[in-house]
Parts: sequence; structure tokens; C-alpha cells
Amino acid sequence: MDADTLLKSNGLPKRMVDTVSKAVRSRIMSRIRGKDTKPELLFAKYLRSKGIKYRRNVRIQGHRVDFRLVGTKTVVFVHGCFWHGCPSCFRLPKSNRTFWSRKIELNKRRDFRLSSLLRKQGWLVRTVWEHAGRPGHRKIFIRSLKRAKQ
Ligand SMILES: [Zn+2]
Repeated sequence: MDADTLLKSNGLPKRMVDTVSKAVRSRIMSRIRGKDTKPELLFAKYLRSKGIKYRRNVRIQGHRVDFRLVGTKTVVFVHGCFWHGCPSCFRLPKSNRTFWSRKIELNKRRDFRLSSLLRKQGWLVRTVWEHAGRPGHRKIFIRSLKRAKQ
């Protein structure tokens, strides 16, 4: 499958893809690579360094969650700052603003619905933002984790 087919299967019309900036395109590609996006790998590494056991990409009643901490009823979502509309980092791209704002808004709503659903079923739901894994943000990582362990 070539990149364009992949992009289309990811819900992005080719016309749109051709006009997105290089930065956005690389975000799209990292999304397509799917399960092993870098922030998730970083977080997995971090959990291992703390000796915390986890399962990745677990399905709970048909919904995929990024991490489930073994022996607890805790799930952790590792959210990319762009795709999930991080409150501190998200900036709308300069081109195709309507398209992107709608797309990111839908993602945010989906995230919200899924967390609410899991919480109702007694899961502790934690979100770790991509920016927490960037250099200089280690403390945020640790804080996210402490909350996750509660
Ligand atoms: Zn962020």
C-alpha cells in the first residue's frame, strides 16, 4: 500500500493531503504508523524503568486503550498534542483551518466519550500528553504516573 492509499484510508482526502504542510504531513505519517508512535514508546520505557507492569493496546469492550496497568483498574492514554488538541500546545495549522478544527474537535469528543464510558465502568482514566515526554518535562511525566498509580 502506498502512502496516498494509506492517507485516504485514514480518512484524509488526497486533495487535502497534497496541500498540508510538511510538518502536518509528518504528523499524519506518524499517526499512520499507528501503534508505535514515539510518545507511547517513551511512556512504555518510562513505565519499565519504574518497574510498573503494563499491557499495551488492550481492548476493553471493543475500545482500544493505549495502556492498562497490570493489577490495577487503571488505563492510560498517551495523546499526541496535535491530534488530540492539547490545551497547552495545539495550534491550528494555517491552511485548511475549517477541516482541521472539525477533525480535531471530533477527536476530542471521541476521547471524552471513551473516558466517560470507562470511568462509568470503574476504570481510573489518565491522560499523558505527548509534550510530557519532551526534554525538560520529565516532572510532568512523573506526576502523570503518580496519579495513574493511585
Ligand atoms: Zn501538549
